[in-house]
Amino acid sequence: VPSSKQPDATTTMVCGYCSTGCGLNIHLKNGEAVNLTPTVDYSVNAGMACPKGWEALSVLDCPDRGTMPLLRDDQGRRVPVKWDIAVRAFCDSFKKIQERHGKHSVAFLSTGQIPTEEMAYLGSLAKFGMGMLHGDGNTRQCMATSVVAYKQAFGFDAPPYTYQDFEESDVIVLVGSNLCIAHPIMWQRVCRNPHEPEIIVLDPRTTETAAAATQHLALKPKSDLALLYGLAHILIAEGWINDKFISQHTEGYVDFRRHVESFTPEYVEQVSGISKERLHYAARTIHRGKRVSFWWTMGVNQSYQGVRTAQAIINLALITGNIGRPGTGANSITGQCNAMGSRLFSNTTNLLGGHDYQNAAHRQKVAGVLDIDESHIPTENSWAYDRIIEGILRDEIKGLWVICTNPVHSWINQNTCREILERLDYLVVQDMYHSTETALEADLYIPAAGWGEKEGTFINSERRIGVIKKVAKAPGQALSDFSIFRLVSHYWGCEEMFSRWQQPEDVFQTMKELSRDQPCDITGIEDYRMLDDRGGIQWPYPEGCQDEQSERRLFADGQFYHPDGRAKMLFEDPSEMPEPPNPRYPYLLLTGRGSASQWHTQTRTSKSSVLRGLYPLSPYVEINPQDARNEEIRPDSLVTITSQRGSIQAKAFVTPTIQAGQVFIPMHYETTNQLTHAHFDPYSRQPSYKNCAVRISPAHVP
Ligand code: SF4
Repeated sequence: VPSSKQPDATTTMVCGYCSTGCGLNIHLKNGEAVNLTPTVDYSVNAGMACPKGWEALSVLDCPDRGTMPLLRDDQGRRVPVKWDIAVRAFCDSFKKIQERHGKHSVAFLSTGQIPTEEMAYLGSLAKFGMGMLHGDGNTRQCMATSVVAYKQAFGFDAPPYTYQDFEESDVIVLVGSNLCIAHPIMWQRVCRNPHEPEIIVLDPRTTETAAAATQHLALKPKSDLALLYGLAHILIAEGWINDKFISQHTEGYVDFRRHVESFTPEYVEQVSGISKERLHYAARTIHRGKRVSFWWTMGVNQSYQGVRTAQAIINLALITGNIGRPGTGANSITGQCNAMGSRLFSNTTNLLGGHDYQNAAHRQKVAGVLDIDESHIPTENSWAYDRIIEGILRDEIKGLWVICTNPVHSWINQNTCREILERLDYLVVQDMYHSTETALEADLYIPAAGWGEKEGTFINSERRIGVIKKVAKAPGQALSDFSIFRLVSHYWGCEEMFSRWQQPEDVFQTMKELSRDQPCDITGIEDYRMLDDRGGIQWPYPEGCQDEQSERRLFADGQFYHPDGRAKMLFEDPSEMPEPPNPRYPYLLLTGRGSASQWHTQTRTSKSSVLRGLYPLSPYVEINPQDARNEEIRPDSLVTITSQRGSIQAKAFVTPTIQAGQVFIPMHYETTNQLTHAHFDPYSRQPSYKNCAVRISPAHVP
């Protein structure tokens, strides 16, 4: 290390990519970050980091960082302007739209990747200050299903676990989760488990995680709900259940037992392709486990029946009494670094702190804490993401503010997204980078600071609140999202409403008050310093909490959040796949994460030369060797993949890890969502990214 780069100090903060929330030591020279190493004494990662974490600083410095607001002129050119001109243009345009089309004709789409304080500010500004009703986050695309599943089953959106459970289980059941690459540090914790656990993976693909499992149930796509009911059927029929736990802590068991009676091993074998013997063996493994934990991610969440599938997993934990003890739990793992903050404080469909817009007492409490007139708080929930997009199509939404997300790439019906956004009277995009597919469409682009260039807190998958800090200066005139929201408040004329929020930690103090007496009560956390000193703190942490443990889990007393204290068992018959393979489109397309070094739409990861070197830069499609032979497709040749929505090209990766009749394309490539079918879970409105019918053929190369 040259002496000019020799660090003179070190500080710690949490990583800004995924929901694992690893601790990173940031090494500083004159107060500016020069490099980083994973924090050894942080309970989450104990000195480990994945490639994205190691490269977290490198993506801050790149040519397409926004340094000035860019306003589109009459000729369609993007012209750099000063902040006051930009924010005035934004406010004037949105106000004009509201005058012409009503207050609710402007909306926002946000993210799971900004600090909780910024989310809370955004939601309050947009709804209480600017009069919007509709605003949602890109978290709708990854974990809305789990939110609804938990709320209905437990009475609050409360993932019950702590990462220590990965090391304490003797049976680990992973459903639709490629932990090994999607959450590599969590997988490392599984590998550290000293109990030699049985690892049961339910996944149609032989993923890296499935290959390392002791039992891989390579079920037919979307037969997961039937298979989970089949496991419940066997557990109940064999008497491998916990009667005491069921009778004392749950509701709905008798109806659930009746429901799963028809999911016999023979029936499930036929539906899922998993033999009744293997199914029985998996059920026996669960029965023999003393500490069984059930985990799920996007394979479950991104489905047209995701909520009921997640609840089928929850029911397995409930009937076997595997919840509230070390090494157990019905555990959803979320995706983005602050998806959990978004779930609680973003003020989108939930009122701040897990309150309910439709509950008068909740509105009164929030108005009291914020010291605002209750009339500013909407009495109904926002539309979900898909309904906001539809609202644009129907000319009900005319102005849109997009914050740190890239729907032109990520939206499930990508072909229509650009056209839909063009219908808007005004599109504002606030992002670190001026060249995302969505930013390039904007009437106004405003440059935001990123992780490492501002302060705040993130909440990770195990409910741990961790601190992020400013260790680098944002380029040019880029501002933190917090500062941008303050500017918008000023030019909108509602800054008085938020005058108590001079810095992010002021919002944190308000969040504490809002959480009082809620399941997510954090009134016992004094300030950022306390979070820093403790290595993060898991919620709940109410005032007077003496709990010094670094690992805390929920439901140790068997008390859930419904008024009767019982968990509810919810269930429903599996529904038909919306677009099954057919003679014209005979293959089923699966999508998902492709590598531990890629992230979402690659907005950030593509900026790191190290990360770019760790995965193929152009799209590839996984094809089974038998299908490749039938379609005369050679390895590494160019393939055309066509669905009813569009046609794309990708390189053939011929591999037996994908079953015949299925193909897989990573979600990170710009073209993938030109194929996907816009279908949604009816309860969570989460898009079903993982199943649509396609055909494949060798590409015609001129
Ligand atoms: Fe960051 Fe997630 Fe990697 Fe940890 S696992 S270093 S939180 S991206």
